[in-house]
Amino acid sequence: MIVDLRSDTVTRPSAGMRRAMADAELGDDVYGDDPSVNRLQARAAEMLGFEQALYFPSGTQSNLAALMSHCDRGDEYLVGQEAHTYRFEAGGGAVLGSIQPQPLANRADGTLDLAEVEAAIKPDDLHFARTRLLALENTIGGKAIARSYLENALELAKRKGLSTHLDGARIFNASVGLQISAKDLCDGFDSVSVCLSKGLGAPAGTLLLGGKDLIARARRARKILGGAMRQAGVLAAAGLYALENNIERLAVDHANAERLAQGLRESGYEVEGPYTNMVFVRPAPEKIPALKSQFEKKKILVIPGARLRLVTHLDVDAAGVERALDAFRSLAA
Ligand SMILES: *Cc1c(COP(=O)(O)O)cnc(C)c1O
Repeated sequence: MIVDLRSDTVTRPSAGMRRAMADAELGDDVYGDDPSVNRLQARAAEMLGFEQALYFPSGTQSNLAALMSHCDRGDEYLVGQEAHTYRFEAGGGAVLGSIQPQPLANRADGTLDLAEVEAAIKPDDLHFARTRLLALENTIGGKAIARSYLENALELAKRKGLSTHLDGARIFNASVGLQISAKDLCDGFDSVSVCLSKGLGAPAGTLLLGGKDLIARARRARKILGGAMRQAGVLAAAGLYALENNIERLAVDHANAERLAQGLRESGYEVEGPYTNMVFVRPAPEKIPALKSQFEKKKILVIPGARLRLVTHLDVDAAGVERALDAFRSLAA
């Protein structure tokens, strides 16, 4: 069995999840009559404390639809340099929404300096794009952002008349890591995007949460972006199964990340984290080729680089963590 530490997106649906998919009641979701999609959306809205939820094929599309729902052409959003929305979504906000990003440096803990956020808000003057939205991410690079920070950010946004979007692709990792409900972490944001296809183990799907008007705009954006699906309940059933079965168990992934970080440190590696389900390690450059052949021999998958990101998830068990550690250990000291 391969130990795949590249990402938590690599999880495959479990037997129980596949059964839920096979048994899903279906309709045409473009007409709003797919009962499985409707059930998933209602459940997520209730769990996270929003009026409505909307099901998307991917997190990239959910974030983009959110940007397009908050901003018009010529508007601007404030976002971290390291944020997925800005950095890893092919510039979709600019390409398809004509929305200008104003990136700001993320600090070491993943947050933005709120004084810098405030200073970046443009005055109401025809020379400038109209600053409309503050977009944050939780977790970011695995780091859970505390509620106290979010409250300060939300207060600033409110005072300055900005809308707020939270890219909560891994909000449940943040919730489990901080031991605070996901609902409380999301409270006060105008929209939140939550991935079902990462640690929660669904094969695809992301939910956008927000108020009725925001979701109505997002539904239109989703149609423009080609994301309105028909018998999507076959996928949504997997998402519902994930919400009902795979949240609390994220603590297991976090414990596995702890073990991984601890073992790497004991072997003398330079380690960052663990941050929820992620560990970062910088092997000495001269060791990288030998490490690569160890990974091949022991069937361990890692994205190559100088700073390796190791991600735990529901398809990596304690034995898998030990096997990965063995590969690293064989080159230690
Ligand atoms: C994975 C991820 C997304 C969305 O990714 P998709 O692969 O498009 O589903 C968005 N934001 C963050 C922080 C992510 O990690």
